[in-house]
Amino acid sequence: MAQKSLLMVGAGLSGAVIGRHLAEAGHKVHIVDARDHIAGNCHMYRDAETGVNVHAYGPHIFHTDDEEVWAYVNAHEVFLPFKNRVKTTSQGRVYSLPVNLHTINQFFGETLRPDEAKAFIETKADTSITDPQTFEDQALRFVGRDLYDAFFRGYTLKQWGCDPTELPASILKRLPLRFNYDDNYFNHRHQGMPQNGYTAMVESILNHPGITVSLNTRFSRDQAKDYDHVFYSGPLDGWFDYELGRLGYRTLDFERFTYEGDYQGCAVMNYGDEEVPYTRITEHKHFAPWESHAKSVLYREFSRECGPDDIPYYPIRLVNEKAMLGGYVERAKWEKGVTFVGRLATYRYLDMDVTIREALDCARLAEKAFAEGGVMPAFTVNPL
Ligand SMILES: Cc1cc2nc3c(=O)[nH]c(=O)nc-3n(C[C@H](O)[C@H](O)[C@H](O)COP(=O)(O)OP(=O)(O)OC[C@H]3O[C@@H](n4cnc5c(N)ncnc54)[C@H](O)[C@@H]3O)c2cc1C
Repeated sequence: MAQKSLLMVGAGLSGAVIGRHLAEAGHKVHIVDARDHIAGNCHMYRDAETGVNVHAYGPHIFHTDDEEVWAYVNAHEVFLPFKNRVKTTSQGRVYSLPVNLHTINQFFGETLRPDEAKAFIETKADTSITDPQTFEDQALRFVGRDLYDAFFRGYTLKQWGCDPTELPASILKRLPLRFNYDDNYFNHRHQGMPQNGYTAMVESILNHPGITVSLNTRFSRDQAKDYDHVFYSGPLDGWFDYELGRLGYRTLDFERFTYEGDYQGCAVMNYGDEEVPYTRITEHKHFAPWESHAKSVLYREFSRECGPDDIPYYPIRLVNEKAMLGGYVERAKWEKGVTFVGRLATYRYLDMDVTIREALDCARLAEKAFAEGGVMPAFTVNPL
């Protein structure tokens, strides 16, 4: 097999997992990242003042049903048991999320059993809505006005910067509503947190003699000619110098503050009220209950429209963005020597387990293509 010289743009999970697989297959892998650290948006760092391991780009909890991916992350880092139990503050009271039997009983001052709660919520639901078109329709149809106003309306408005009547019903596809006391935020079989953080995990993935990493190195397209193939995990519109315009994102601002002791008693507290400008507060030390820290560091999280110099977090993917995405995907298919991978280059929200799954699949396809003299496609998943 002829050894290929490969470039990964981005040292996040996508670049690291693809790079590792192809280095193990005998190829020479160079990874560049514009940032001064590896691990992309999963990056964590030790806060100098408190000693707490902080999720630099917002809280990340690992959860999956994918056995191979679970084995993969466990091969690179010790995962300790962790259940994400989110709380929310609404109109001066604290409730449990996702909306469950405890939330319903507490909110309505009832002591309902599961069947009674189901029947009760049906009396609250707006059954006149037969074909929900908007996020608001969908919520009113299934939970009714009271729960919608307390738990969905304000949060969604702040998160997406528009009224829920302007968002499609599909955003609220599966209603997070439980008629039991299960307050585990995720349903997946495996859930946990990396003992030393995701950055340590990615460091282990990158630890291979066939891989070199250059940080503080922004990729420009003229570098591509120096390599046999590029795996690009940067923004799709950025590859094309935004010639069709910028794909819309929401960005986040984190306001750091510290506290002597335990500030909120849980890792994530949402704020559902429209009047509170932030969406949630993260108390990072609660993500590592096996560590002990007297002081605490917290992030207040604010969501807003993403400008050209901001970090893109959540792709908006409404009608206009999808049309622009279609244009970029069409152009991308004509590009030679590049495969677009990961959350930014395919303009999708991807959980970490899905990112790793797609990266492994892409890397295997590439291994085969390079061995057999085949051609790697621009996309190994359909971004549309
Ligand atoms: C707020 C938030 C919370 C999340 N929480 C969870 C969670 O709880 N659980 C979960 O499973 N997933 C979560 N995720 C998803 C998770 O962050 C992604 O799955 C993961 O980051 C995707 O990895 P990636 O490598 O595709 O992209 P990224 O991590 O974004 O990595 C891309 C890298 O490419 C670099 N780059 C881009 N352009 C260039 C360029 N031109 N030159 C050089 N480098 C470049 C960037 O600097 C970046 O480091 C969350 C996401 C967000 C936004």
